[in-house]
Amino acid sequence: MIAESFDYAAPSTLEEAFQLLHELGDEAKILAGGHSLIPMMKLRFAAPTHLIDINNIPGLAHIKEENGHLCIGALTRESDLEESDIITSRYQIFTDASKLIADPQVRNFGTIGGNIAHGDAANDHPAVMIAMNAEVEITNQEGKRTVGIDDFFYGFYMTAVQHGEILTEIRIPIPKGKFGTAYYKSERKVGDYAAAGVAVMVELDADGTCVNAGIGLTNVNPLPMRAARSQEALIGTKLNDEDIAKAAKFASEDCNPTTDLRGDEDYKRHLVKVITKRMLKQAISRAQ
Ligand SMILES: Cc1cc2nc3c(=O)[nH]c(=O)nc-3n(C[C@H](O)[C@H](O)[C@H](O)COP(=O)(O)OP(=O)(O)OC[C@H]3O[C@@H](n4cnc5c(N)ncnc54)[C@H](O)[C@@H]3O)c2cc1C
Repeated sequence: MIAESFDYAAPSTLEEAFQLLHELGDEAKILAGGHSLIPMMKLRFAAPTHLIDINNIPGLAHIKEENGHLCIGALTRESDLEESDIITSRYQIFTDASKLIADPQVRNFGTIGGNIAHGDAANDHPAVMIAMNAEVEITNQEGKRTVGIDDFFYGFYMTAVQHGEILTEIRIPIPKGKFGTAYYKSERKVGDYAAAGVAVMVELDADGTCVNAGIGLTNVNPLPMRAARSQEALIGTKLNDEDIAKAAKFASEDCNPTTDLRGDEDYKRHLVKVITKRMLKQAISRAQ
């Protein structure tokens, strides 16, 4: 199908974008990579009267470590994550995820900000952000505010980004000790959304005891989900096989998958258990 007609603007500053958002009201939408929004418009699930393209606004695409945080600009493309030395050497969870997203064409244009602002529990970065305990910087005409990732997703395609606001940066607190991360999703065919996916971060002290753990789940709950009981089960342990098996069992019990074309509920719970175990082992090995 062809999208309904709309007007298009490409401001070159954030101030100009906010002015347009203010003038045009809530029928206007931000356009980043367009790989979620345009398909929605073609299917007529969305029919914004105006698109405000933020691609010409400088200062929104960067990857840097600053003040104890990994800072990723909202307009950073999936392909930029795959090519970043900082990401590939220390935060492999992002490349694990981006390599599994769609195909190179989508990854060349799709942005990390758009991936989470879309608010879809089937997208891969929300679970990664949960595992990494991300903070999301949201900017509006009055200034900036920061929202913790656990308060960011609050409904079906609903996030803390309100009309008149732009998601500008994602900040990941850099773990102080040794840490490892990993993400994997099971997909029906290459480039598909997840049947189930699991994102993991573990932080270890000098003795190899787990001092912090983050586990996020993809597409097995109406909202992107933190496997809180699994995380708690790991903290204070040496992450032996028994600890890992317990955390994986809790994740498979606590998620809420639905039966659909990607598999039935039992199958998805089984996937969560198996992938959680594997990702924990991979994250531990990367930490060491
Ligand atoms: C064939 C195909 C397969 C795909 N497979 C996967 C997959 O396996 N896994 C996956 O995670 N994703 C997948 N996607 C989605 C893709 O990764 C999108 O690019 C991504 O979800 C959205 O990023 P975008 O920059 O394209 O956002 P857009 O489509 O431009 O925007 C998406 C939504 O977010 C809003 N938005 C965007 N940026 C901002 C911002 N900075 N501030 C405020 N609001 C903003 C827009 O208004 C819109 O509502 C697929 C897409 C396609 C077309």
